Amino acid sequence: MKHHLSVLGSTGSIGTQTLDVAEKLHLQVHALTAHSNIALLEQQIRRFKPELAVVFDEEKASQLRLAVRDTATKVLPGMDGLIEAATLDSADLVLNAVVGMVGLQPTIAAAQAKKDIALANKETLVAGGDLVTRAVRSNGVRLLPVDSEHSAIFQCLQGNPPNKALKKLILTASGGPFFGKTTDELKNVTVEQALHHPNWSMGAKITIDSATMMNKGLEIIEAARLFDVSGEDIDVVVHRESIIHSLIEYNDHSVMAQLGVPDMRIPIQYAITYPERYPSPVAELSLAQIGRLTFFEPDYDTFQCLRVCKQALAMGGVATAIANGANEEANMLFRKGRLRFLEIGELVAGAVASIPNQTPKTVEDVLTADQMARQYVTDRV
Ligand code: NDP
Ligand code: MG
Repeated sequence: MKHHLSVLGSTGSIGTQTLDVAEKLHLQVHALTAHSNIALLEQQIRRFKPELAVVFDEEKASQLRLAVRDTATKVLPGMDGLIEAATLDSADLVLNAVVGMVGLQPTIAAAQAKKDIALANKETLVAGGDLVTRAVRSNGVRLLPVDSEHSAIFQCLQGNPPNKALKKLILTASGGPFFGKTTDELKNVTVEQALHHPNWSMGAKITIDSATMMNKGLEIIEAARLFDVSGEDIDVVVHRESIIHSLIEYNDHSVMAQLGVPDMRIPIQYAITYPERYPSPVAELSLAQIGRLTFFEPDYDTFQCLRVCKQALAMGGVATAIANGANEEANMLFRKGRLRFLEIGELVAGAVASIPNQTPKTVEDVLTADQMARQYVTDRV
C-alpha cells in the first residue's frame, strides 16, 4: 500500500471521499488542490496538515495563503502549482480527481516524477491517449483506475492477466436519469432533471455526462487505453441497479464480474491499497435484498454521444481529444442554461466530423485540438 498521497481535486466528490478513505487508513496526505473552493480547502488543510495546497484560481490562492498563514502549508496557484502537487518528493501516489482535461499535464508530470497514479480524471486519458500511457510505461509507474467500471475490470483481471484468451470487456451503464426516453421527450429537459442521477451522487459535470451517456462513451475510450483493448472488443450493457460494476469475457465464454453497492469508496480504496485489501466502511452487498438485476441494450441513436465516442476511438489521433473538448464546453454551457440538452450530442458529433484529425506528437498538439473543439462549440452558441 502507498502511504504518502497527493490528492488533486481534493474538494470534489471523489476528492472528499478519497480523504475519508485516507483518514481511515491513517495515510499521510502531502498535497491538496482545488479550483476555487477555499473554504473547504482550508478545513482540509487544518485536518490533514499537508505540505502544499494548490488553488487553481490565482486570486483565491492569495486569499487562502492569508487564511492559513498560521499553518506550515505552502499555497501555490495555477497549473504550475498543480504540477508541483503532482511531483512532490514526499508523495508516492498521486490520486488525480480533478474534473476535465486540466488534469492532463499534472498526470504526465507525475509519471515523469516516477509516482504511481490513481486516476479518476478520465478526461486526461481520453484526450491524452498514448501520450499518457507511454509516459506511464516508459517511467515504470502504475496507472490504477478509480472509475468504478475500470476498477471492476482491473479487479476481474487480477490473477487472469490480459492475454489472447480475453475476448471482450463489458462496461455496465446505469442509463442515467433519461433511460428509455425518446429524442422527442429529451428536447426540453431541464438542467435540474439532468442533474438527478438515479444511483450515484457525483460532481455536476459527470452527472450531466451520465445523462447524455457521454460518460459511458468516455469510459469506452478510457477502458481501451487502460487495458489496451480495441473499441470493437468493448461492449456496453445498461444495468439500472449499478450493482455489477463491469465484466470481462474470455474466449471460452466464461464471464467474470465485480459487484458491490454503488459507493466510490470501494474503487478509491482499492486503487490506494492495491494489491492489498482492507476493511471498508461501505455497506455489505445483500443480493437477496436487491432481489433482481436487470440488463438492456444501450440506445446509440438517442444517446449519440455514446456512438460518437466509439467513432472517435476508431479514428485515433486527436479525435478523442476533440470529442472530449467539445463535450467539456457543451456540458458547461448546458449547465449555464445556454444550450439545450440534445445540442450537447450534436455539437460533439459536429466537432469530431469537421475538425481535422492528426496524430499528436506532443501535449501541445492535444491542447490545440482541445481548444479548437471548444471554439467549435462556442462559435455555434
Ligand atoms: P467535482 O466537480 O466534484 O470535483 C472536481 C475537483 O476538481 C474539485 O476539487 C474542483 O475544485 C477541481 N477542479 C475543477 N475544475 C478545475 C480546474 N479547472 N483546475 C483545477 N482544479 C479544478 O468532480 P468529481 O469528483 O465528480 O469528478 C472528478 C473526476 O473523477 C472527473 O474526471 C470524473 O469524471 C471522475 N469520476 C467521478 C466519479 C464520481 O463519483 N464523482 C466516478 C468516476 C469518475 P473546486 O471544488 O474548487 O471547484
Ligand atoms: Mg464510471
